Amino acid sequence: MPELPEVETTRRGIEPHAVGRRVVRLAVHEPRLRWPVAPAMRRQVAGQRILAIGRRAKYLLFELERGTLLLHLGMSGSLRVLPAATARTPHDHVDVVLDSGQSLRFNDPRRFGSLHYTAGPAHEHPSLAPEPFDRRFNAEYLWSITRRRRVAIKQLLMNSHLVVGVGNIYANEALFRARIRPQRQARSLTRAEAARLVRAVRTVLRAAIRVGGTTLRDYVGADGAAGYFRQKLFVYERAKQACRICRAQVRHLNQGQRSSYYCPTCQT
Ligand SMILES: [Zn+2]
Repeated sequence: MPELPEVETTRRGIEPHAVGRRVVRLAVHEPRLRWPVAPAMRRQVAGQRILAIGRRAKYLLFELERGTLLLHLGMSGSLRVLPAATARTPHDHVDVVLDSGQSLRFNDPRRFGSLHYTAGPAHEHPSLAPEPFDRRFNAEYLWSITRRRRVAIKQLLMNSHLVVGVGNIYANEALFRARIRPQRQARSLTRAEAARLVRAVRTVLRAAIRVGGTTLRDYVGADGAAGYFRQKLFVYERAKQACRICRAQVRHLNQGQRSSYYCPTCQT
């Protein structure tokens, strides 16, 4: 199985052949990889120049002019540089044909590899977004993705292209603990607030996991909130009730068709 070192070796091997070249054609001979290769990808990728080839964990990232092609080698995949006319062998599933007359040929007998295209920066692709317990989800990361974004911080927190797995209930509770109002523009966060929010997200999720692990039968569907965890909520579904910290009345608002709750005193 290609591990990180093999993927990096592949990256270095193909880099001199691919960077600066234009993709003449993306030929998908077998779209049934781990996830189906989207038919639109041929059109999206064709004609674009390869600006750089990066790597993120075990993904190869082809940075193109208007987006990023993400290749995962899976359990048994390999990528070789060949003259484009070279006859295909079994398990040659994809050819990235370059204007040099060469092809980047993806071979994968077990077909656990995957190929995705994203029009945005690579880190916004769902399969690359970090989970809250991932080391990559840190204050620096949260701070950097909030720059220049006018979207409300709560909606950013629930955007699975940026971080995976923060549901509505947890986003509300984490923002309370971090003392940040859910409707604040993401770009208004300070570094200190970003750091608090990362800690708060983890604290809230950890608490829910702990409770979920011991009182599984108390689970009550909807938002996946355990009955026991619900008793410990500071703001979620507590509109007009007294804040547990300062006794001010908890407020409610709708954001992107999801309910948000906050304390007007504790959160700024
Ligand atoms: Zn309060």
